Amino acid sequence: MPTLNCPSCNQQFTTPFETPQVQCPHCGAVVNNPAAPQAQAAPQYAQPAAAQGSPFDAGPSGKSRGIFGLLAILVGCFGVHYFYVGKVMPGVVFLLAFLLGFLLCGIPSMLVGVCSLVQGIMAFVKTQEQFEQTYVNTPKSFPLF
Ligand SMILES: [Zn+2]
Repeated sequence: MPTLNCPSCNQQFTTPFETPQVQCPHCGAVVNNPAAPQAQAAPQYAQPAAAQGSPFDAGPSGKSRGIFGLLAILVGCFGVHYFYVGKVMPGVVFLLAFLLGFLLCGIPSMLVGVCSLVQGIMAFVKTQEQFEQTYVNTPKSFPLF
């Protein structure tokens, strides 16, 4: 049983109680009980550290950087990832550069392929916010990276 020291009458007493406060049997003062189990701190409802979620979650713009990234990596040379985010002009440029690349020994095709591969990888590295700033909510008509 915990022994308490009453601050009012300065007498010691023991209590079987484990309540936060007990009454002094000598003077009736209410004494804080150090033996009481500490009140449990309210459980913190921890926010996920990175509130990023899956890259395939659609962001505020309705576009998912995961889908953009996969399109860029798999079929980016056809400009499909640009069509996905509504940037038609660079999509057409990528498509034409890839298809007509043989006119310049395939160099434009290679550039377009490497470019969209990098764009696809970067879409997964960026946050959804950065992704949307770069490709969706950008005033640029030909956003590259
Ligand atoms: Zn007392």
